Amino acid sequence: MNDLSPTHFQQREYSAAAKAFLARTPQLFINNEWVNSSADATIPVEDPSSGKEIGRVVDASDKDVDRAVSAARVAFDDGRWSGLPPIQRDRTMNRLADLLEANADLFAELEAIDNGKPKGMAAAVDVPAAASQIRFMAGWASKVNGEVIQPYTMPTGAVFGYTSREPVGVCAQIVPWNFPLLMACLKIAPALAAGCTIVLKPAEQTSLTTLLLADMVAQAGFPAGVVNIITGNGHTAGDRMVKHPDVDKVAFTGSTEIGKLINRNATDTLKHVTLELGGKSPVVIMPDVDVAEVAPGAAGAIFFNSGQVCVAGSRLFAHSSIFDKVIEGVAATGPFWGPRPSLDPEGHMGPLVSKEQFDKVMGYIEAGKRDGASVAMGGDAPATDGYYVNPTILVDVNPQMSVVREEIFGPVVVAQRFDDLDEVAKAANDTCYGLGAGVWTRDVATMHKLASKIKAGTVWGNCHGVIDTALPFGGYKESGVGREQGRNGIEAYLETKTVIIQM
Ligand code: ADP
Repeated sequence: MNDLSPTHFQQREYSAAAKAFLARTPQLFINNEWVNSSADATIPVEDPSSGKEIGRVVDASDKDVDRAVSAARVAFDDGRWSGLPPIQRDRTMNRLADLLEANADLFAELEAIDNGKPKGMAAAVDVPAAASQIRFMAGWASKVNGEVIQPYTMPTGAVFGYTSREPVGVCAQIVPWNFPLLMACLKIAPALAAGCTIVLKPAEQTSLTTLLLADMVAQAGFPAGVVNIITGNGHTAGDRMVKHPDVDKVAFTGSTEIGKLINRNATDTLKHVTLELGGKSPVVIMPDVDVAEVAPGAAGAIFFNSGQVCVAGSRLFAHSSIFDKVIEGVAATGPFWGPRPSLDPEGHMGPLVSKEQFDKVMGYIEAGKRDGASVAMGGDAPATDGYYVNPTILVDVNPQMSVVREEIFGPVVVAQRFDDLDEVAKAANDTCYGLGAGVWTRDVATMHKLASKIKAGTVWGNCHGVIDTALPFGGYKESGVGREQGRNGIEAYLETKTVIIQM
C-alpha cells in the first residue's frame, strides 16, 4: 500500500444533481408532503470516503413520529390503499420501480456518497435489486387469496367456511445502513402489495436515498399517507415507532442486539414482528475444488461491501490439504479489494460507513492479534482521512476468540482448517447465528449433506450471498424471526380471517 499516490484516497467531485440534493432543507415526508420537524434537531450527513460533513437530515421528534403514524393510521383505516383494485396497487408499485430506474444514476451516486460503497457497485447491485423487489411484490397484490374449506366435524353443506387475507395494518419499518435503498424497498414492497400503510425510517448514518425515494412515492401516485418517511435516531425515533400503540407490525433489519430490544419493546402491544439480524456465516471449502476458481469467490464473500453484509462469509473453513493454497488465493485478491473512495470508478471496496464502525472493526483486529491470531493479509488501515480498512485475513485462530465468535461487520475473515465433513459441519454450527452459509465442492452428495447439516436460513452452493426477491430470506437461531422475500415475504404482512356461515 506504500506506493499509492497522495490523491489516492481523495473523494471525487459530486455531480450537480447530488450537490443540489444535499443542499435541500432537512424535512420529513408525511402524507405525500415535505414537512418541517416539530423541533429543530438534525443529524449530520457524512461522506465516509472523506470523513467530512456534507449535509444534515432531520432527527425526528416524538411528535414527528406521532404525526407520521397518524397519517399512516388514517390512510389504512379508510381503505384508500387496501381498497383499491389490486391491478391499481400493482401498477402504482411498478411506476415507483420505473421512477427508481429512471433516476438510477443519482440513486447510485447518493448511495456511494452516503454509505461509502463504490458507485459502480450501487449501480450494478443496489439500485436494480431495489427495483426488482418492488416489481416482484407488485405481482402479489393480485395473487393473495383465501380458500374455501370443508369443516372436519360437520356434514357437507352445513356451514360455508372460508378464509380471506387482509393486510396487517400500519407497519413501522426500520432499516440499517449497509444497503439503505435496497433495504427500504425490500421492506416497503411486500407491505404495499398486501395493502398496508407504512412509516419507514432509514438508519441515521444513511438517509439520503430513502429521502430521494420519497420524491418518487408522490410522483408514482400513491395516495397520501400510504408511505411516510422519517429520518432520525434509533433510540428515540425508532423506539417511538416500535412502541407506538397505533402501529400493528414492526419489521426490522439490523444488529441482533437491537433486534432483541425491539422484540421486547413490541411485546407490550403484541405487534407482529419480523427481524432480520446479524450473522457469522461460514464458508466451507472442500478438498475437491479448483482453488484458483474458488479463492476469489471466498474473497468476494467477505470483502464485498467492505464486509458490511449480514451474510458476509466471515468464517472461512478450508480443508487442511488445501488450506495454504486457499489463503494464498484469497490474499492474491488483496489489490483488487484495496479500499478506494466511493466515487473512484476503479474501486471495488470503499471505506466503512462511519468512524464508529471503523473503530469497532479495528478494535476486533487488535483483539484478534492480542489473542494470538496471525495476520495473513492486511490487519491495518491506510493513514488517511475517511474510514478505510485494508482487507484482512486472520489465521491461527481458535473458536474462543472474539474475532471468531462475534459479528465484526467489516472486511475481516478468520480462516480455520478442517479434516472431515462432520467436523466442519459442527464447527460451522458453533455460533449463536444462523443466517447464511457457503459450501464449495464439486461433489453433489457432499453439497446436499452439508446443506442439510448446517443450521442457516440460506445455504449457497459454489457461490455466496446471492439474493433474489423470489427466494425466501431469513435467519435461524439469533439471526432473525420470520422470512422476507418470495411468497413468505408477503405472508408476513397478511392476517388470515376465517369466516363460518351457518347455511
Ligand atoms: P448497526 O449496529 O448495524 O448500526 P443497529 O441495529 O444499531 O445497526 O441499527 C439498525 C437500525 O435500527 C437503524 O435504523 C437504527 O436507527 C435503528 N435502531 C437503533 N436502536 C433502535 C431502538 N432502540 N429502537 C428502534 N430502532 C432502533
